[in-house]
Amino acid sequence: MTPIFKELKRDGSSFARTGELDLNGIRVETPVFMPVGTRGSIKSLSSEDILELKLPLILANTYHLYLRPGTEVLDSFGGLKKFMSYPNALLTDSGGFQVFSLQGLFKFQEDGVRFQSHIDGSYHTFTPEKVIDIQRSIGSDIMMVLDDCAPYGSDRKRLELGLKRTHSWAKKSIDYWSQNPGNQSLFGIAQGGVDPELRIQSLETINSLPFSGVAIGGLSVGESREEFVEILKVLGPHLDASRARYLMGVGTVPDILDGVRNGIDMFDCVLPTRNARNAQVFTSRGKVNLKNESHKFSDSPIDPDCNCKVCKNYSLGYIRHLHKVKELLAFQLSTFHNLHFMQNFMSKLRSEINHGSFTEFYDFWKKLYTR
Ligand SMILES: [Zn+2]
Repeated sequence: MTPIFKELKRDGSSFARTGELDLNGIRVETPVFMPVGTRGSIKSLSSEDILELKLPLILANTYHLYLRPGTEVLDSFGGLKKFMSYPNALLTDSGGFQVFSLQGLFKFQEDGVRFQSHIDGSYHTFTPEKVIDIQRSIGSDIMMVLDDCAPYGSDRKRLELGLKRTHSWAKKSIDYWSQNPGNQSLFGIAQGGVDPELRIQSLETINSLPFSGVAIGGLSVGESREEFVEILKVLGPHLDASRARYLMGVGTVPDILDGVRNGIDMFDCVLPTRNARNAQVFTSRGKVNLKNESHKFSDSPIDPDCNCKVCKNYSLGYIRHLHKVKELLAFQLSTFHNLHFMQNFMSKLRSEINHGSFTEFYDFWKKLYTR
């Protein structure tokens, strides 16, 4: 395992820290928020937009890319980055989480999971080895292992079975990856639902394997905010300082704040892009619903404190109109602004940690973004 993470500065009063990832020469400052490009595009944005936003690291979904365009096409283009003309760093999930969302269309097997495509009903199998091969075709800088994310509300027996599978697959994954590591790093995933004991047990098992980073899976899947924060607090002291720590599928402002406070370096979430398409934008004054009648005549920008190209050039009233009549431009402008907001928010967050003022930053934004 080549180390890809370096810690830079620790907050004095919490587990918050800044650091940097070196992903094949691409430097990613942490804590980092990764926007989601499910099927090889961040919905409504071009790769030029992604570069203009200075996004160093984005996420793509293995399940979707495996079904369409498929590994043959990805291999022929030399991987997803060349296919989409995107030069920065890429992280892919294992596809497992998406398969487990296919209600009634998957079945566990000893060595993996068999499932039916949501597109045409065809049968496929994901094993720990197979999903690494698919991610090699995609060519991501960070690959994730196949894991078993038990649904929220699972009893202890189901959670224990999930851990057994997750840990056995993690060992198979690291063995398979080690035979030919190439320039793609591999992260392990810890599970355990909202059971503190199982959570620690799982994290320590994953910590004991030579992964380049450790992810926390199975949170933000239906548990209450109190349960979510409680598990983060339980895990904070057990996170390995030498490796990057990634909280999967989590990325609202309050969730990022609590994640960072408990030692998380990496986040991903569809909300900033999905909400943008649903006319909700994030601003320095809180969330704004663009469709509100009150914005009808507004010639102000979405966020007077934002210096993105959307806020420099377009009025709230105009963007409201685009959403009301469902013009495609509404998606693009709102998505661009929201990702600019997230970039700016994470950059400020890192700066506050470096200057020893994370607690004040935490309190201010937590209050602004919690109803
Ligand atoms: Zn803006």
